[in-house]
Order: sequence, then C-alpha cells, then structure tokens
Amino acid sequence: MPAKSTLGQNFLRDPAAIERIASALGDLSGRTVLEIGPGQGAITSTLARRAARLIAVELDPSLAADLRVRFQRTPAQVTILQQDVLAFDFAAAAQQARLETGQPLLVIGNLPYYITSPILLRLAQSAAGIERAVLMVQREVAQRVTAQPGSRDYGLLTATCALYGPATELFTLPPAAFAPPPKVHSTVFRWSFAPRFTALGVPEEPFLAFLKQVFAQKRKTLANNLRAAGFSMDTIAAATGSVSIPAQARAEALTLEQFAQLWRALRPFSPSLAQ
Ligand code: SAM
Repeated sequence: MPAKSTLGQNFLRDPAAIERIASALGDLSGRTVLEIGPGQGAITSTLARRAARLIAVELDPSLAADLRVRFQRTPAQVTILQQDVLAFDFAAAAQQARLETGQPLLVIGNLPYYITSPILLRLAQSAAGIERAVLMVQREVAQRVTAQPGSRDYGLLTATCALYGPATELFTLPPAAFAPPPKVHSTVFRWSFAPRFTALGVPEEPFLAFLKQVFAQKRKTLANNLRAAGFSMDTIAAATGSVSIPAQARAEALTLEQFAQLWRALRPFSPSLAQ
C-alpha cells in the first residue's frame, strides 16, 4: 500500500528513535496508553509490550485492519479503533482509564501534521484526565509550543498550551528517519498536563478568548490589539498602568501571569471579558 500523503503518512523507521519516544512517556506498567495515528505500528508494538492497556486510534481503514490482525494475540489488551482522532472522546477514555487502573491516561503519537493544532486543542480540552503526552510534530511547531516569552516563536499557540501545563522539547529527527521522508524535520516534545486557570485566577473560556484578542495581530502592540478588540485608549492606559505593563509592549513579551493581571485589570471596564 503506498503511503497516503493526504493523511500525513510518514512512517517511522529508526529503531533508536522508536525506543526514545516510547521511553519518553515514562513507566507504562499498569497504565492505559492512547496512541494517536499508529500507522504501521512502529511505536505500537513497543507500547503494547509495556502498557497494561493500549488504545490506538487510526483513521486509515486498511492500516487499522492490518493492526487488528497483528495485535489480536498480544497479551496486553490492545484496542485498535478506526476513527478520526478529532472525533475521539478523550474524556471518556480517561474516565475508563481511571476506573481500570486508578490512574490518568497517557497519550503518545507521531501526529499527522496536517491536523496538529486541532489535536493539541483537543488534548488541552481533556487535560483533566490526561497526565502527560509525548508527541512528535513538525520542528517549527514544537519550537512554538515550547517557546519562552520574548522569543520569536512565542505566540498564541505557546500561551494556550502553557495554560494546560509545561511542554518540554526532547529531540529532533531528520526526514531520513521516516518512509517516505517528509519535507520537514520532526521534533518530539513532552507535555505534562497541569491546568493553571485556578492558580492564575482566570476563567478558562473567557481567558482563552482574551488571549486570541491580544495575539490577534502579532506585529501590533498590545495597545493596538486591545484597541481593535474595542477597548478605549483611556481604559488601556489605566489597565496597563495599574499592572506596570508598557502599553507599547507586544503580547509576545508577556508571561501568563502578566496576561492574567491584565485580564483582571481590564475586566471592570468590560463585563463581556468574563463571559
Ligand atoms: N505512528 C506511525 C509511525 O510513527 O510510523 C504513523 C505516524 S504518521 C505521521 C500519522 C498517522 O496518523 C498515519 O497512520 C495516518 O493514517 C494517521 N491519521 C491521519 N489522520 C488521522 C486522523 N484524523 N485520526 C487518526 N489517525 C489519523
């Protein structure tokens, strides 16, 4: 079967990389692991040997059928689901994992790159039931997810992911580690879920909407993005001044704590911020 580029099929061929990715998820004994896009099963076999239970979600019907045959006799309970991971119920799987193992879900995947951001958002939405995820993505995306405030790569994706827990870059693979080789380098990162909304004193949905406003135009200053979102110059000056953030700063320079301070300072001027 030729690989389907429309489904982001670049299969991992480097045995050392497979071992590193599986090991990056930590000790799997007694755990339920969810694999996104198992493909031809490169990482799946290693996971099946180590985890108590493995659920693998693959969209391609022929790959899913092959995997079912291959894993029907494995001792670990392996379930191959043929479905779109974006329609997968992570919260239900996490609840099931808790019932069966008393522990949260672990997630792993060499992701189909064409839907990286939607997958990251789906994981964020289910963060309460997931302990950590080890994910391979295009190198530039990993650099954005793990960027520090003030750096070129820091943006809406960084701040959004960081709200759900710290992400750490682990290692990068060249195109030659895959068949067929992709056009880009690939980077593996670990995301440890620990949502920060309560600690920051902000509500989840309104704060995410606020971040979209302040990052709406990356090249614009904070003041200009807030103006575009409907705040008056006086309000912006009063709010930024009260939390000692220069109105001429750009959103990419601010930490999550500063965004939260700014949100709280602006809220009295705009009740819609809290909705
Ligand atoms: N894990 C395998 C490996 O490392 O060799 C395959 C990784 S390949 C980059 C991505 C896999 O995701 C492919 O098998 C592809 O068919 C599958 N895939 C693509 N879109 C998907 C979707 N929406 N839901 C689930 N799997 C998907």
